[in-house]
Amino acid sequence: MELIIEPGDITEQKVDAIVNAANSTLMGGGGVDGAIHRAGGPAILAECKQLREQSYPDGLPAGQAAATTGGELSASWVIHTVGPVYAKKEDRSATLASAYRESLREAKRIGAHSVAFPAISAGVYGWPMDDAARIAVETVKSMADEVGDTVSRVVLVPFGEKAERAFRAQLDS
Ligand code: ADP
Repeated sequence: MELIIEPGDITEQKVDAIVNAANSTLMGGGGVDGAIHRAGGPAILAECKQLREQSYPDGLPAGQAAATTGGELSASWVIHTVGPVYAKKEDRSATLASAYRESLREAKRIGAHSVAFPAISAGVYGWPMDDAARIAVETVKSMADEVGDTVSRVVLVPFGEKAERAFRAQLDS
């Protein structure tokens, strides 16, 4: 499994599936979530509504993942996952790792060969960027044996210079 960093707007990634740092409602939001729904068009929200009705009436729990169409995106699928809100007094790292892990399992399940991730939880949810990058790189690497037969290329997509520095430092270490 190849693991690379390509800074920029994840909606422009030429991959089979892009991961959305969604919220539990799956009804859209700000940050990367808003950008993905804007770029992919209404088909994504329509499938999110179906997911809510059929599989997640109470919302998608943090640490889990579910796929929809990519709509008008270049990517065929969007894999929606929910990261934890950062909390100083509680270690939620396992939930953040789970968001990466379950997204990769979903990618394998749908047959996606290439997957792009944003820095889950590192925006509105407040996770410190260096630690978010460490968990991203470590967790993706740890999944190579399990999903690498299908998912041969994983792209981490930092947005902004600070994120890019943090991700490059982790990949080099
Ligand atoms: P969360 O609620 O999980 O923190 P956010 O969307 O607020 O999700 O932020 C997650 C990360 O995605 C942040 O580092 C933010 O800068 C980044 N981001 C925002 N828009 C884009 C985009 N178009 N492409 C890639 N990353 C983005």
